[in-house]
Amino acid sequence: MNPCRKLIIIIIATSLLLAGCLHSSDDSHLSVHMIDIGQGDSFLIKTPEGITMLIDGGLPQESDQLIAYLKRHHVNQIDYMIATHPHADHIGGLIPVMKELPVHHVIMPAAAHTSLLYESFLETVLESQADIQVVQASSQHSIERDVSFEILYTGIYYGSNLNDWSVVLRLIHDEMSFLFTGDLESGAEMDLLNYFSPEQLSSEVLKVGHHGSSTSTTQPFLNAVQPKIALISCSIDNPYGHPSDQVIHRLEAAGVWIYRSDLKGSVILYSDGEKIWSHQAPVNLSPVSSADIFTKRLSLRIDHFRCFSVYAVPFQKQAVQMVPAPLTNAILHFILIHQRFH
Ligand SMILES: [Zn+2]
Repeated sequence: MNPCRKLIIIIIATSLLLAGCLHSSDDSHLSVHMIDIGQGDSFLIKTPEGITMLIDGGLPQESDQLIAYLKRHHVNQIDYMIATHPHADHIGGLIPVMKELPVHHVIMPAAAHTSLLYESFLETVLESQADIQVVQASSQHSIERDVSFEILYTGIYYGSNLNDWSVVLRLIHDEMSFLFTGDLESGAEMDLLNYFSPEQLSSEVLKVGHHGSSTSTTQPFLNAVQPKIALISCSIDNPYGHPSDQVIHRLEAAGVWIYRSDLKGSVILYSDGEKIWSHQAPVNLSPVSSADIFTKRLSLRIDHFRCFSVYAVPFQKQAVQMVPAPLTNAILHFILIHQRFH
């Protein structure tokens, strides 16, 4: 065969192979996206059957970025929109999203704000065709097989402290769960501890409250949730000093893998209901001991080894066999090398 033709065939075959790998973009799994929208919160959830949830939408001036992200990830509608509380860095981007995409359900707290932005948010919600749920009780929502979410509500009146009104949502995918607490602060965290058992709060992933501020993520709350992964959404060099060193130290002392949008940009976690993984490395890989990497996770790594590295968190839920030490060290060595070039 003519060498030139052979080269073209090799290039086409390689491209197809790569496209195949890239296409295995884990759409068959549940994905949780921490969208980098600067100093604010916005989290997208896509279920295996394509149901979408958007928890908060960041500041209004970042909404172009948010909408571009949603379009890039083929989001054509929002099935559940959650406005955790009426502050601008949470509801700002939701207004343009509602104008751009059909929204089926809106969930919001029974807390109002006097800002013009909040008024505009309310008007847009009322004009939309969405079902509106103002949270006044705990509730459970089944989305599809193995995927549901719970709204955890204590019924306590927080007056003008809008952060503490944040809607608390626990997303459950089979054995895995994700806890979203908006900007909830320490007092309301204590109230959750008084109303719900540690089992009702425990989650593999914690969306760290209030952008990692020292007002939230108290030690008793962390002890109850026992997360393996923490998601912190904030902008680089923000004027609030988020996230606080105190919170970072608390999470690291608990061996939690931390993903920060200021350092990593947007982050995607995947779940198959038994495990959670990411193609991105956490910012603090080293505190996790090699002794915590289990064989169950190893099989997952190999599954996805074709194109990407996978960072699968160690779990306690299932009794699994330890990887023999030399193999564990080799895996860790590879992760550390990859991390250096990531
Ligand atoms: Zn906030």
